[in-house]
Amino acid sequence: MKKLTRRTFGRWIGAFAATAAGKSLFPKPALGGAKPRAVVIGGGAAGATAARRLAEDFNAINVTLIEAHRSYASCFFFNRYVGGLRSLDSVTHDYRKLSSAFGIDTIHAEAAGIDAARKTVALKGGDTLSYDRLVVAAGIDFKDGLIDGYDETVAETLTHAYKADRQIAVLKRQLDAMKDGGLFVYHRAPKGPTGARRRPTNAPPWPPIT
Ligand SMILES: Cc1cc2nc3c(=O)[nH]c(=O)nc-3n(C[C@H](O)[C@H](O)[C@H](O)COP(=O)(O)OP(=O)(O)OC[C@H]3O[C@@H](n4cnc5c(N)ncnc54)[C@H](O)[C@@H]3O)c2cc1C
Repeated sequence: MKKLTRRTFGRWIGAFAATAAGKSLFPKPALGGAKPRAVVIGGGAAGATAARRLAEDFNAINVTLIEAHRSYASCFFFNRYVGGLRSLDSVTHDYRKLSSAFGIDTIHAEAAGIDAARKTVALKGGDTLSYDRLVVAAGIDFKDGLIDGYDETVAETLTHAYKADRQIAVLKRQLDAMKDGGLFVYHRAPKGPTGARRRPTNAPPWPPIT
């Protein structure tokens, strides 16, 4: 079995797009009609890569990316920022290049619902977007109120720094201010829904990559 890496994931997306084009997963536009539209929800590492690969490899479809925020700070590499090796800016990306270089139509809004029967995505604020194919790459997020006394307000000082947002700057400031020999309390990542912290060794194999 091949290992799933970022590179192989990128190839996967390419293969998906190739299949989409080859087997007409996207409807053919009527003569002079609008191109079929792929909509990607979430402009994180996964969604932005998927959108880019679709737009880069296929001129015959329009790609629209729906992303709630105007910039994306990657969690990977943020340890280099915390360690003083990189600036926060250098791990923060906006979406301009996806539009200018790859023609992706980026909409900064929150997707509020998907109607799979009608093939539409409802945006918070009321607009609706239709799609021919949809990629959902919204990542994971916190559920507020699950830990007594711990909410996003407390997290401003007792930071979880699990999101690459301003909490990381708080964490870095706190670490920088710490005197030698200071006390750092760290709680390891909680268990996942299956009770496991890591993918179990007897888990079914990842789908084959061709
Ligand atoms: C502290 C930390 C350190 C990490 N370090 C590493 C590392 O060193 N190496 C590594 O490989 N991985 C690391 N990871 C994991 C890595 O960050 C994730 O695997 C990766 O971010 C997942 O990408 P994603 O695109 O699936 O989700 P995300 O990066 O979470 O992106 C999801 C995007 O979807 C958007 N979104 C969500 N809901 C909506 C909606 N309704 N409408 C519109 N937009 C929406 C969000 O705004 C976000 O931009 C780390 C993670 C953490 C938390």
